[in-house]
Amino acid sequence: MSDELPAREAMEFDVVIVGGGPSGLAAAIRLKQISPDASVVIVEKGAEVGAHILSGACVDPIAFDRLLPGWRDEADAPLKTKVKDDRFYMLFGQRALRLPNALMPPLLNNHGAFIVSLGDVCKWLAAKAEALGVEIYPGFAASEVLFGDDGEVVGVATGDMGVGRDGAPKDTFTRGMELRAKYTLFAEGARGHLGKRLLARYDLCKGREPQKFGIGIKELWQVTPDRHHPGLVQHTFGWPLDNKTGGGSFLYHYGENLVAVGFVLHLNYENPYLSPFEEFQRFKTHPLVRRTFTDGKRIGYGARAIAEGGWQSVPKVAFPGGVLIGDDAGFLNVPRIKGTHNAMLSGMLAAEHVAAALAAGRAGDELTDYETGWRSSDVGRDLWKVRNAKPLWSRFGTAVGIGLGGLDMWTNTLGFSFFGTRPHGKPDSACLKPAASCRPIAYPKPDGVLTFDRLSSVYLSNTNHEEDQPVHLQLADPGLQKASEYDVFAGPSARYCPAGVYEWVREDDGPQARMRFVINAQNCVHCKTCDIKDPNGNITWVAPEGGGGPVYPSM
Ligand SMILES: Cc1cc2nc3c(=O)[nH]c(=O)nc-3n(C[C@H](O)[C@H](O)[C@H](O)COP(=O)(O)OP(=O)(O)OC[C@H]3O[C@@H](n4cnc5c(N)ncnc54)[C@H](O)[C@@H]3O)c2cc1C
Ligand code: SF4
Repeated sequence: MSDELPAREAMEFDVVIVGGGPSGLAAAIRLKQISPDASVVIVEKGAEVGAHILSGACVDPIAFDRLLPGWRDEADAPLKTKVKDDRFYMLFGQRALRLPNALMPPLLNNHGAFIVSLGDVCKWLAAKAEALGVEIYPGFAASEVLFGDDGEVVGVATGDMGVGRDGAPKDTFTRGMELRAKYTLFAEGARGHLGKRLLARYDLCKGREPQKFGIGIKELWQVTPDRHHPGLVQHTFGWPLDNKTGGGSFLYHYGENLVAVGFVLHLNYENPYLSPFEEFQRFKTHPLVRRTFTDGKRIGYGARAIAEGGWQSVPKVAFPGGVLIGDDAGFLNVPRIKGTHNAMLSGMLAAEHVAAALAAGRAGDELTDYETGWRSSDVGRDLWKVRNAKPLWSRFGTAVGIGLGGLDMWTNTLGFSFFGTRPHGKPDSACLKPAASCRPIAYPKPDGVLTFDRLSSVYLSNTNHEEDQPVHLQLADPGLQKASEYDVFAGPSARYCPAGVYEWVREDDGPQARMRFVINAQNCVHCKTCDIKDPNGNITWVAPEGGGGPVYPSM
């Protein structure tokens, strides 16, 4: 089609940033603080900044203190609820064992952190960036990386709008735009789709452990005042997961009777019958937490992948003309379930190197100082101490792995480790076992009060896509879905997708029965789990038309 299309309009900037999350916004603010005259633009695929942001979130304020000293005196700063009570539990069936805080490695201590809506924080940061002169284009997805004559990144193009499902232009067709820049910062979050292409093009994962992921599913509840304990932060592991399936829950009380509750399930799970969504629903029925929601109302739902590989999985983060920042690079600290601080700190670090390069009149080269610098920065120090936690959990299971991981975090706090740096092994797509060797799991039916089904959940995410557009979940080989995903693995996509996008539908009855793979792309909440977990790596998530996707209410 592109041969017949009109040329794209091009705009020139000093810096283009892909993604208006904490990393992209912090990078933009830092750049303008150092180089007020630099032209900086952010493209954001959500209809507005914050629309696609889903997090816990209990945040470490270190990056806010560095980027915006004085923010604590600002009345409109959306970091209001300070952590007052920090609890860890191991769940066994209907029982819960509280772990004494004194036993926990100090780096897991949440005192001093704030409980926030990260979406609201991003809106606040966006206003600060705009006040400094950053241009922000919400509703535009970067769909293509632009390369120069020497193979360097020279910017991105936003997707064409008004293309029909068959790929033909409709009456509403509008050509995308080229946003050209001296440096481009990729801040798309976990499993960025342009980031994934850059990893392959520049072989950025060479010599690194595979990236590992989890899926985080979250609900926002309005609870009754007598059940609200502002500042309470509670984490659990164990039930309802078995010993070899990793993951855990979070529960944060904040704001006006709000409780954020969520579950992170590590995507190296083996049983294709497992459903992260249903495990989360089951978790809420535990006696430790279920009373929190009595007479409450669920007001938000969403899901998003998190990068869990840490120190040993971070790829090379600089390449000619561009860098990866935030979760696009994999800077999340998994035992702390915190990535916001490192997303912002990495954005600021990259911005400082970009500003220095611009001041020296450079453009399009590789910012090698960012690559060599991050490991000795606060981001590197944060990830180094926890580098063995996830590999130990995966290798030894929850009961022993959590203990060994805790010991390793303690010894690392003191400056040494008995374990060196442990590998992760396989990528998550290679971890499923064939269905024939696994037991189906019977999940309880939702009651519609405390536990819910997928469709009523997706409704709360306000997800919407133009229906007449190319399917943004692309199958490399459609035949492989039936031959392997269904016949060998029993169709795990219908269970791991938290939005009910994938279905295996029986077409006829009797001996001629045929299973058809259905993709309800309009339900997609952009969590990226299918791109990560499909056992054949057969599904690729690409950006749909800009503005499509969830519109999260303060998630
Ligand atoms: C369930 C859950 C709980 C969490 N809890 C916590 C917590 O308690 N504390 C904490 O600190 N961290 C937590 N995290 C992690 C934290 O949310 C992330 O580390 C952080 O949001 C990463 O910031 P980022 O800017 O790198 O990416 P993101 O926040 O993912 O932002 C990326 C932005 O880029 C946009 N984008 C992506 N691709 C494109 C494109 N091609 N074109 C245009 N725009 C694009 C997206 O729409 C999005 O707005 C949690 C994460 C999850 C999923
Ligand atoms: S289709 Fe993929 S990216 Fe979209 S919600 Fe389902 S698993 Fe997530």
